[in-house]
Amino acid sequence: MNFKPRCIPAELQVTQYLNWRMSLSPKEHSYYLNLEKGFIGEQRVDEWLKNLSEDWLILDDLLLECNGTVFQIDKVLISNQKIYIFEVKNYEGDFYIEADNWYTLSGTEIMNPLRQLQRSESLFRKLLQELGYHCQIESYIIFINPDFQLYQAPRDLPIIFPTQLNRFLNKLVTISPKIKDKHIKLAKHLVSLHIHTSPYKRTINYNFDNLKKGIICTQCNSFIAEFHKTALICDSCGYKEKVTSAVLRSIEEYLFLFPEKKLTANAMYEWCEIIPKKTIYKILSKNFKIIGHGKYSYYLR
Ligand SMILES: [Zn+2]
Repeated sequence: MNFKPRCIPAELQVTQYLNWRMSLSPKEHSYYLNLEKGFIGEQRVDEWLKNLSEDWLILDDLLLECNGTVFQIDKVLISNQKIYIFEVKNYEGDFYIEADNWYTLSGTEIMNPLRQLQRSESLFRKLLQELGYHCQIESYIIFINPDFQLYQAPRDLPIIFPTQLNRFLNKLVTISPKIKDKHIKLAKHLVSLHIHTSPYKRTINYNFDNLKKGIICTQCNSFIAEFHKTALICDSCGYKEKVTSAVLRSIEEYLFLFPEKKLTANAMYEWCEIIPKKTIYKILSKNFKIIGHGKYSYYLR
């Protein structure tokens, strides 16, 4: 049973919107691709474990705090005997370990993911103790990409390599989680402690004026060229979407990118670009609560 499903991380969502609406620098673009790759890796792990018995308690993408230190866990599996915590890596290519340090084949040192895992495990253990739960914890790094290879790795590392995924899954399948009320209580407790990050961590500088305006096709991410009363039709892929749905989607995008700004009809008229003002007013007043009058009015959920 999944107690906390995975959502697209706010940072990735913002960067994806920005990638559509402005030209990212090569550094920003590679940052975006890295975020996307990480998320794809996590989704692959979800897919890998999707046939696990419903009796397991599963928590995805937890951001927790212990003694003032924030830490993240990609996946938690709770059973009666053990809690498994997984750190997912979607690394691709050849890597090697030398004297406890990790390098790409070309010799560039990368952050040792085992240190990150140890840190998360130790903070998680401390947190559970503080909450009054005493459980055995087993933690692993999952390298989900089949094109990953690690050389000179000692045999006893807490790592699941792509070639070991099937065997590890078979091992999990034989375990009966035997969940009791106290485990459900723990899962609920952890979800309640999850930190919701602020959606506008400004890693990339942007503002309303420097973003391309218009409505983006939900299928192919092109900008829609023209307004039609009945439906918006994408020139690039032919996808049809109802005007209200496309406008609401664009409003959500605006609110996500600019949580500090007021939602006004004028801003949405400019943001959606191809939609007549009358239609913008109609959609806003039907779906949001108007505050104030005239020039200074704005909308709230
Ligand atoms: Zn399209």
